[in-house]
Amino acid sequence: MKIHNFSAGPCILPQDVFQQASKAVLDFNGLSILEISHRSKDFVAVMDRAQALALEHLGLTDKGYKALFLGGGASMQFLMTAYNLLEKKAAYLNTGTWSDKAIKEAIAFGEIIEVASSKDANYNYIPKDYEVPIDADYFHITSNNTIFGTQLKSIPQVGIPLVCDMSSDIFSRQMDFTQFDLIYAGAQKNMGPAGATLVVVKEDLLGKVTRHIPSMLNYQTHISKDSMFNTPPVFPIYVSMLTLEWLKNNGGIEAIEKVNNDKAALIYGEIDRNELFQGFAAVEDRSNMNATFSLRDETHKELFDTMWKDASISGLNGHRSVGGYRASMYNALPLESVQILVNVMQELEKKA
Ligand SMILES: *Cc1c(COP(=O)(O)O)cnc(C)c1O
Repeated sequence: MKIHNFSAGPCILPQDVFQQASKAVLDFNGLSILEISHRSKDFVAVMDRAQALALEHLGLTDKGYKALFLGGGASMQFLMTAYNLLEKKAAYLNTGTWSDKAIKEAIAFGEIIEVASSKDANYNYIPKDYEVPIDADYFHITSNNTIFGTQLKSIPQVGIPLVCDMSSDIFSRQMDFTQFDLIYAGAQKNMGPAGATLVVVKEDLLGKVTRHIPSMLNYQTHISKDSMFNTPPVFPIYVSMLTLEWLKNNGGIEAIEKVNNDKAALIYGEIDRNELFQGFAAVEDRSNMNATFSLRDETHKELFDTMWKDASISGLNGHRSVGGYRASMYNALPLESVQILVNVMQELEKKA
């Protein structure tokens, strides 16, 4: 039976990728992918290909950037970015739980200027009027706020290095990625299974802080060893490579962005039309990846929950800090799944 997986992460990946990955567990040139050396020719080729595809999709090939696949999740990057880049002062835009956590990690390394925050409105919008101090070492933003369903529709131009947590919308929309100096993304939202984190960093950004950086937390260590300083998360990197290959075979970001726009238009259209529902995020900041919404009248909850579960929909419950529902519509989720959800919302309207 086909399940429509709206989970926020770990999340849906292409079926083709699951099939190829499961084959590689049994037989990857004779051995299992799980038992080969990360220094073997076959895995080095996987790492090279994954790095090349990541840069290619972002339009950053031969532009002074390195792609690394590290462990520790996006949460480790909250710490590593500050460790490597923060000498005196850094600026942060606080647009959600993840930005907030990034700020908390950075505080130990210098002065943190929170240029704006939407915390007082439970992060239901993206602050737009703020000033970024030009003497800060970098400005940190979160491009998509997975929990609250908001997304930066335009990227602030600030004239200082720009660091972006792109965990939940990387490879989902076209952008000029050269405006970023460092991008990081946990694999498990749009790229692969949990366990690997992609870091794309402009090399000339590094080596400027005076503190000693422990080897494992130092981007330059990982760059000098081509992301193989220690044993990398071999299987998550392999599956990420397959997903990036899938994306390329399906027309790349340009093509997937069109589908993502269609999915978002479909669900938000229904949220706005159907009087039983209301959206959570400010309309102009609505995320194309995570749509947050709720029932206006909680007495319909039991019926609605039964109906979407009966329609083989999974992962629709909202995060505990928002409540209601969250439909996560990452690259691998087909338009058809969103249509099924919209049908259920329309049937509820008839029954309620
Ligand atoms: C999920 C998520 C994180 C945390 O990722 P981990 O890999 O679990 O550490 C950070 N930032 C954003 C935007 C996320 O969606």
